[in-house]
Amino acid sequence: MNNLISDLQKEKLINTFGEYLIENAPLAKFSSARLGGYADFMLTAHSAFYLEKMVTFLWEEEIPFHILGGGSNILISDAGVRQLVILNKAKKLAFNEDDQELPTVWAESGTNFGSLARQAAQKGFSGLEWAAGIPGTLGGAIFGNAGAHGKDMSNNLKLAEVLQLEEGRKLWSVNQMGFTYRNSTLKTESGKYIVLSATLNLEPGKPEEIQEKMEEYLQFRRRTQPPGASMGSMFKNPAGDHAGRLIEVAGLKGSRIGDAQISELHANFFINHGEAKAQDVYQLIQLAQEKVKDQFDVLLELEIQLFGDWK
Ligand SMILES: Cc1cc2nc3c(=O)[nH]c(=O)nc-3n(C[C@H](O)[C@H](O)[C@H](O)COP(=O)(O)OP(=O)(O)OC[C@H]3O[C@@H](n4cnc5c(N)ncnc54)[C@H](O)[C@@H]3O)c2cc1C
Repeated sequence: MNNLISDLQKEKLINTFGEYLIENAPLAKFSSARLGGYADFMLTAHSAFYLEKMVTFLWEEEIPFHILGGGSNILISDAGVRQLVILNKAKKLAFNEDDQELPTVWAESGTNFGSLARQAAQKGFSGLEWAAGIPGTLGGAIFGNAGAHGKDMSNNLKLAEVLQLEEGRKLWSVNQMGFTYRNSTLKTESGKYIVLSATLNLEPGKPEEIQEKMEEYLQFRRRTQPPGASMGSMFKNPAGDHAGRLIEVAGLKGSRIGDAQISELHANFFINHGEAKAQDVYQLIQLAQEKVKDQFDVLLELEIQLFGDWK
């Protein structure tokens, strides 16, 4: 697929989406790190139905695009992306509360994952306590196999409705997802699969106990993770170790370039203090990778996704 949108493709986009198509859309406000330039075009999908229609059209016309969920696991370049960005706001959600079966929740992929976990807790459904405080959407959480406190999406996913390049919509079971630590087939073959919706397994539980567990997890986050604009964990933990520990021992805790800083509290969190550039964060990423490689012979692998061009 071509990396730039041609004049002919632009014309097709304008004719097809009319007033719904935003040109030169600023992206920083859609990223938790508050960083990044403009997308050539943006569309907002308010339902899984429209998400499917948009993606199918873009694939047919070979127009390059990115899906943006909550923007909480991406770094967008200062120059932005010369592509189209679909902002996923498809948020329909329904619980299966039939007491003859174990409870489940079905939700469109733009549903806020933390809010979904809270709603399950309020209903007395257990299983998503670990998700307390994880920002972003259900689709983003499936893409990256989000997890915390020893659990991840692979523990809950029952089925996902996935739109496949050239093959249309398919139901994927958890085994088809290729889930490993912060990874999935969607991530290793990025761009070929889009999550439209998913069904998660839950269990009956006691609302007070579920809420208590979630509060405990939230308090742990407040103690161990810095507040402020970030992307969460920058790097995956290498086998048997922690990226934050390696960066800290390499002496980089608190390192700063411009307004971007490796957190003093948790060295795997990179903070935008307000006026940082994405390039500042990128230089910190390279610095951490170089120092950790030199000192420990470990290559830190990014957990986040990079949008746009980097050098
Ligand atoms: C303060 C903070 C704390 C965090 N804590 C955790 C944590 O404890 N555990 C954890 O795992 N993560 C954590 N994260 C990272 C992040 O919240 C998760 O990775 C989250 O699941 C990303 O979802 P998102 O919607 O924001 O994805 P985005 O950042 O919008 O997108 C990430 C990638 O997923 C792709 N994508 C998004 N939606 C879809 C879709 N529907 N179909 C196909 N591809 C899609 C995007 O194209 C992109 O490549 C944290 C982040 C922050 C800022």
